[in-house]
Amino acid sequence: MGKTVTEDFADFSKCLGSGVSALFSFRASGDMKDSANMEAFARRHFSGAVPVYAGQSHGTVLKEVDVQTVSPLANVDALVTRDKSVVLLIYTADCIPVYFYDAQASFAGIIHAGWRGISKNIIISTMDSIEKKYPLHMSSLKTVIGPGICRRHFEVSTELAHVFPEIYVKNKKGKKFVDLKLIIRQQLESSGVKPQNIHDSGFCSFEDENIFSYRRDKSPERGCAFIRLL
Ligand SMILES: [Zn+2]
Repeated sequence: MGKTVTEDFADFSKCLGSGVSALFSFRASGDMKDSANMEAFARRHFSGAVPVYAGQSHGTVLKEVDVQTVSPLANVDALVTRDKSVVLLIYTADCIPVYFYDAQASFAGIIHAGWRGISKNIIISTMDSIEKKYPLHMSSLKTVIGPGICRRHFEVSTELAHVFPEIYVKNKKGKKFVDLKLIIRQQLESSGVKPQNIHDSGFCSFEDENIFSYRRDKSPERGCAFIRLL
């Protein structure tokens, strides 16, 4: 529902409601770890906004940011803002960006959710923090589970499988697979986000050649999830 896809990027803005712009860059937009390239993308799509990004250490720390913030923010994996003059971004290549937005409280944010952060409950801790920080009802919060590796392609070792509750692990022909997107969805719901306010982008980074995938490409190149208040 509500997403627009071009060769260069996907647009999830409408899944979050009005007042926000939420994009994900595809391979055709180039490697976002190349800062000149990332800045050019930001200028094209988020005119006048300053890019703010996290150090992404696979932890669970959320930081509120504004135009004064100096990037990258070390040891931070989730960003939130009420400042319309910044665009928040998270780099990914199989990890899953989770966008969130509340129209009434007027803030937008993004979470870097890889298996490490998810296993440390980054979704729950971020939702707890914003609920304390902002005057909002979690029932009005809208979220998008962005492009990332799906349950059919996130094959894990036996050791890694043990990190997750059994209900999220599937055994298939002697191999083990973990459903990270389902964990994200259930953690959002247990934090009070309504099921109808959780939009799954449906993109798997591993199977979609338009999206950078570390597992498939073994490359340092990254796509980027962007969100900005309008
Ligand atoms: Zn897949």
